Amino acid sequence: MSGDAPTPRSAVVIGGGISGLIAARDLSREGLEVTVLEAGDGFGGCVGSHQVAGLTLDSGAESYATRSTAVPTLIAELGLAGNIVQPHPGGAWLQLGGADLAQSAQRMPQSGLLGIPADPRADEIVRAIGKVGVARAVMDRVLPVAPLLRREKISLGEVVRTRMGEAVLKRLVAPVVGGVYSADPDVLDVDSVAPGLRQAMAEHGSLSAAVGAMRKAAPAGSTVASLRGGMGTLTEALTADLAARGVQLLTGTPAEGLEHAGTGFRIAAGDHFLHADAVVVATDGPAAVDLLAKVVPDLAAYRPGPGPGVALVTLVVDQPELDAMPRGTGVLVARDADSVQAKALTHATAKWQWLADSTGPGTHVLRLSYGRGLGAGEETDTTALRPDAELFAAALADASALLQTPVSEADVIGWDVVRWVGALPSAAVGHAERVAAVRSAIAEVDGLEVVGAWLAGTGLAAVTADTRERCVRLAEAVRTVE
Ligand SMILES: Cc1cc2nc3c(=O)[nH]c(=O)nc-3n(C[C@H](O)[C@H](O)[C@H](O)COP(=O)(O)OP(=O)(O)OC[C@H]3O[C@@H](n4cnc5c(N)ncnc54)[C@H](O)[C@@H]3O)c2cc1C
Repeated sequence: MSGDAPTPRSAVVIGGGISGLIAARDLSREGLEVTVLEAGDGFGGCVGSHQVAGLTLDSGAESYATRSTAVPTLIAELGLAGNIVQPHPGGAWLQLGGADLAQSAQRMPQSGLLGIPADPRADEIVRAIGKVGVARAVMDRVLPVAPLLRREKISLGEVVRTRMGEAVLKRLVAPVVGGVYSADPDVLDVDSVAPGLRQAMAEHGSLSAAVGAMRKAAPAGSTVASLRGGMGTLTEALTADLAARGVQLLTGTPAEGLEHAGTGFRIAAGDHFLHADAVVVATDGPAAVDLLAKVVPDLAAYRPGPGPGVALVTLVVDQPELDAMPRGTGVLVARDADSVQAKALTHATAKWQWLADSTGPGTHVLRLSYGRGLGAGEETDTTALRPDAELFAAALADASALLQTPVSEADVIGWDVVRWVGALPSAAVGHAERVAAVRSAIAEVDGLEVVGAWLAGTGLAAVTADTRERCVRLAEAVRTVE
């Protein structure tokens, strides 16, 4: 150490989604001069808003998981703690298949993890999977867990099927997992989507006991929360905070190349080059691997495939019958309910009181999601790419069927389709192992960090905690380099 005042260090963050914005904020707080390069025309990535019928609504993420303090801590730092809101406690419903949809809908059991029940004998589980299903599910308590724990890579579907049988998998787990990951449990890596579950099984001797213990360890109350005004207000607060800190925020500026230059990096963006002591790549996985081709060439072997596509159809409707919240905060749809094309419906005005207050009684916001992702062995899922008019027609029919309330075109005062193609990273079997390999290759490069959902896992809780931990460490390392 020279004893002189430290030279100001610079950082470029590539990608202005929520991970990139959080990275920029923490690097700036640690004293670095930061520039954010965002390819699109706005910041926030999957955390943004859109206008429908004069309402500002979330266009992607609409809540965050409360299992950790990561997101509420950030929210408090941004001065938004007073805006945190809880969803209506009534919870969502589960639509199972059957000749009569009304008869085959029930309240979603709330005591499990990703739909896996902590107590397969509970009444709500008996209703969902029948006595035969329960008889199979309770075998989980006696079957030895060791064979599943020895497997290096295994899908969530295989774990659930082996322990509790097909009925739990198809009727409880698949609807929940499809809603969150747009993927079938048989393709998802259990250690990525349910970190710690297999260790808990080793400790507690069964899957249901593991789920029970994990639920008990989680904070009491709702498993998700949001912000009055929507999660898009988090992006607004972050960008305002960054601007106030003097962070340079550039939209419409995709990073096109990255290479070593001296002790730092040279980043090509459009027709100019930037130099930085540190770089954080906060894009989706395929873009990150392509950008890092020169700096971490070994990553090419781990380039993830494109994630599943999802289309969200938002309907704002005048339909006073919906004031009664016929299906609580919304409905998760099992695959065997095959007369319905949507995989989930969120009754946003039933879920979030602030939104109901802004629409007033009789007017409702419904958000239907399309695109279940691929099952094991399936080729392509193009649902999200269907034309708007087809998705709108499907949304009217599905909303009417799922809510058991007629929702016709004449009731609609505004609608919109938002497509997210490749925005949800693939977490296919072997993902946890691939992430570990990617992390160790990146750790070899001084001054470089890679963040975002493709490595940290899907969801604001996962990306916030991971990004903050890594960027504080990066700033520390860069500051101490002579
Ligand atoms: C429809 C939907 C609903 C969701 N709902 C929830 C929810 O309710 N709760 C929850 O916790 N999570 C939810 N998620 C997941 C959550 O939103 C994401 O996990 C999280 O926002 C990912 O953030 P990120 O910064 O890693 O990636 P992204 O948001 O994908 O941001 C990456 C950014 O990088 C930019 N970029 C890409 N390439 C370049 C380049 N070469 N140069 C510059 N910029 C580039 C992109 O334009 C983008 O802005 C949802 C996701 C989707 C798609």
